[in-house]
Amino acid sequence: MTTLPKRRVVLLGATGSIGESTLRVIAAQHDRLELVGIAAHGNHRRLAEIARQFGLRHVALYDSAAYTAASTGGDFPAGTTFYGGPAGLSELAVLPAADTVLIAVVGTAGLQPALAAIAAKKTIALASKEILVLAGKFILAAARASGSRLLPVDSEHNAVFQCLEGHPDKDVRRLVLTASGGAFRDWPVEKLASVTPADALKHPNWAMGPKITVDSATLANKGLELIEAQCLFGLRAEQCEAVLHAQSTVHCLVEFTDGSLLAQLCPPSMTFPIQHALLYPDRAATGTDAALALDKPFALDFRPVDESRYPCYRLARMAMAAGGVAPAIFNAANEVAVAAFLQNRVPFLAIPRIIDQTLAAVKNFEPGALDQVLATDAAARLAASRLLPT
Ligand code: NDP
Ligand code: MG
Repeated sequence: MTTLPKRRVVLLGATGSIGESTLRVIAAQHDRLELVGIAAHGNHRRLAEIARQFGLRHVALYDSAAYTAASTGGDFPAGTTFYGGPAGLSELAVLPAADTVLIAVVGTAGLQPALAAIAAKKTIALASKEILVLAGKFILAAARASGSRLLPVDSEHNAVFQCLEGHPDKDVRRLVLTASGGAFRDWPVEKLASVTPADALKHPNWAMGPKITVDSATLANKGLELIEAQCLFGLRAEQCEAVLHAQSTVHCLVEFTDGSLLAQLCPPSMTFPIQHALLYPDRAATGTDAALALDKPFALDFRPVDESRYPCYRLARMAMAAGGVAPAIFNAANEVAVAAFLQNRVPFLAIPRIIDQTLAAVKNFEPGALDQVLATDAAARLAASRLLPT
């Protein structure tokens, strides 16, 4: 029997929800996967535990105080190399000891590390959808130029990737991503004006970080995912849609020109897409969560998205159809608005209002260079921040 070489993985965002699921997958598949480097924003205590558990020696911290505490504190294994600040994340992403970089940093801080890893020809397992929404065109061009492989970790996109394998693009009519509907899917619309961050953080099906859980409650997450899908799979805006599916068991439907639909099913746990992306093109028995149980009755239901209940979803689709930097403006405004909502500075329904007004305030154009996108991102964040109460 031949032994497959191990994939050596750098994990950016190791202390988050995707990070923790990735650690479970790597521990369960230790004969196929090896963790060689980890990064987080500031949680150096958890990074030290992970470094000791996995016996690794390369650690990056974005926050400078946390970097200093970690590199002088003595909690890490002897001989650990520390990388600090934004540049430190990119240094870790090109570590010669690694062949795969899993990017699970919330928001857009993963963009430069992703581009560095792509230039270094690493395989990218991508969870951070915001960076594709911000700069997908430039990320894909960089990957084409270097030959670096981009594997989607976001469950719906991982599902589409699996359904599309072996099918030429010309045969695809549309992609339909499923959405659980988030915390308020069954709440009366009138009550949405007074919901609290604690209410929004109670997701019915998935355990995730706070930002994406609020994005699920507004359905901005599904809007971001449609833009992510359009970019990853090279489709037109009108070919990407979503449908509400309360059970989160079917993750996508791919419709072909002949009317056939292929679906991917698995329980709502990120360990499935993470394992798929890290082992691709191989597969292995799951060592974490059990596969779907088929020995008891279960129902799958689907219903169209009611855009009047989910204005963020409508705005995301408008931004996707407009193209140019509109998706980047949408993303920046959403990040500012969600952070303000989580800090109790604005009500839940201010999130779509802030996005709408920011899209109206910042000019859309077709960017020719990444710098233009980054400048627009900064302008949109500023415009959105000005809409917040002082
Ligand atoms: P969490 O909030 O749970 O975790 C965020 C992680 O990012 C933490 O490890 C955090 O470190 C780290 N981080 C934040 N800012 C920086 C920075 N500037 N530099 C380095 N690390 C940073 O988020 P999730 O795991 O839920 O989501 C991560 C990404 O994956 C998001 O883009 C999300 O959209 C995407 N995703 C998540 C899914 C999920 O099920 N959770 C599903 C599909 C996609 P620290 O702990 O130190 O703050
Ligand atoms: Mg998803």
